[in-house]
Amino acid sequence: MTRRRQIYEGKAKILYEGPEPGTLIQYFKDDATAFNAQKKGTISGKGVLNNRISEHVFTLLGNIGVPTHFIRRLNMREQLIRQVEIVPIEVVIRNVAAGSLAKRLGLEEGLQLPRTIIEYYYKDDALGDPLVSEEHIACFGWASQEEMHDIADMAIRVNDFMSGLFAGVNVRLVDFKLEFGRVYDNDYSRIILADEISPDGCRLWDMTTNEKLDKDRFRQDLGGEVEAYQEIARRLGLLPEGENTVLDMAEHRKNRGK
Ligand code: UDP
Repeated sequence: MTRRRQIYEGKAKILYEGPEPGTLIQYFKDDATAFNAQKKGTISGKGVLNNRISEHVFTLLGNIGVPTHFIRRLNMREQLIRQVEIVPIEVVIRNVAAGSLAKRLGLEEGLQLPRTIIEYYYKDDALGDPLVSEEHIACFGWASQEEMHDIADMAIRVNDFMSGLFAGVNVRLVDFKLEFGRVYDNDYSRIILADEISPDGCRLWDMTTNEKLDKDRFRQDLGGEVEAYQEIARRLGLLPEGENTVLDMAEHRKNRGK
């Protein structure tokens, strides 16, 4: 058997050369990092859950006409995707104050924002992904004005769709991060949604209890990370009901209290 060529290894995923030109295989690891990789750990089973959750969300987004890099899931940890040229901007969409926004502006976590905020962060680990404005993006040529228009447009569509999707399973979509890429058709390029959508890059709170069902459980040492990711998958209908591998959060709290 020939070894596949590894194209890139990130914090939570590995990209391999795909079976056809213009395709890649995206492999989901169990590794977790936070605070610009100062905190490292593994969440056993996370990769499998994120692969499945991301497949589900990207498929639904594709169905409503949002262009994405997702082609199909290959197995438990891998999906086939279109190769893109990643735009070096992390797009963060916020509906509720939390995380760095709450800290930076001294807002109470959980404050419902009167309107949705889109923020841009320049992807540069050495600089700690600094917050930038559209002025910086245009000035340094990270994306064109036209591309930024398409990106903001898609970000809002994704937010509207995902807010409804999660509200339907009693989960509040607090904030999330998207990444976009360019694909080239002859002389033209266009922007499509790339990367992943999973509890690694979203804040998801139970609407009734405000329980955190996302990577903040790891960031804040709350424990029960994999149970939280499983809970999201279960509510989205991606795990069989009542399967005994799924520890529900109440059970988890009870066990932790022992
Ligand atoms: N986020 C992400 N990757 C990053 C930074 C942020 O996926 O490198 C996500 C994060 O999970 C949250 C949202 O973007 O859902 C907003 O994150 P924030 O700016 O509050 O930063 P954090 O507090 O997560 O460092």
